[in-house]
Amino acid sequence: MSTPMLTVEGLRASYGAAQILYNLGLEVGRGEVVALMGRNGAGKTTTMKAVMGLMAQSTGKVSFDGHDISGRQPYEIARLGLGFVPEDRRIFSDLTVLENLDIGRQPPRTFSDGVAAPVWTEQKLLALFPNLGEMPNRPGGRMSGGEQQMLTVARTLMGNPLLILLDEPSEGVAPVIVEMMANTIVELKKAGVSILLSEQNVHFAELVSDRAYVLEKGQIRWNGTMAELAENVELQRAYLTV
Ligand code: ATP
Repeated sequence: MSTPMLTVEGLRASYGAAQILYNLGLEVGRGEVVALMGRNGAGKTTTMKAVMGLMAQSTGKVSFDGHDISGRQPYEIARLGLGFVPEDRRIFSDLTVLENLDIGRQPPRTFSDGVAAPVWTEQKLLALFPNLGEMPNRPGGRMSGGEQQMLTVARTLMGNPLLILLDEPSEGVAPVIVEMMANTIVELKKAGVSILLSEQNVHFAELVSDRAYVLEKGQIRWNGTMAELAENVELQRAYLTV
């Protein structure tokens, strides 16, 4: 694997008395696209929230680009260049596509070893997401769910993140958007963006990911290459939606 960008060790998280994550570990290398897979309720979203510092009750060690971010506040983690695209799209419905993008703008970044991270501009993003390119002045509230999903990803990229957490990008969007989203993730990987995405759909994950972790009841049951997972029908039947 390349230089580690995100390393999670012994992660535990609870909602009240209910423990959701048990001793979870995973790693994402620089430039990798890694899928966190599992059925509804397996704990994918909770894992992302815990990494982002959004779980009040969580313990364990999380390192990001060489920084120990365990126990840090979400805004501090975001400031280090960790982008989060939550499942529920959070665009500003009264603002246009371009105005929404402007809100995400942050200066260019370098990795902790001094290498420059990919830099995004509105022009590059409108080219990367052709459907947004066709409607730069449309208010967010007048876009389809899938288009809003794209806009949320694009706005996160305006922050020039070193790595993005992408929560279920293919969930609840039209097949044509799913295909666009897959193409976009492949392009992001080519541009050098590291991604941890949560996903239930093996086919989608196979199109875009290098490696996968399979999560069930808050524990990692399996990890390996996406090609190994795609061939392992028993594993898919046991833990995933086929
Ligand atoms: P989904 O695809 O449904 O989002 P997921 O794998 O992302 O699934 P999580 O959303 O992380 O799963 O949920 C893991 C468990 O935590 C589930 O049992 C869920 O009911 C529980 N849970 C999630 N959010 C809360 C909350 N705010 N309060 C209490 N329990 C919660």
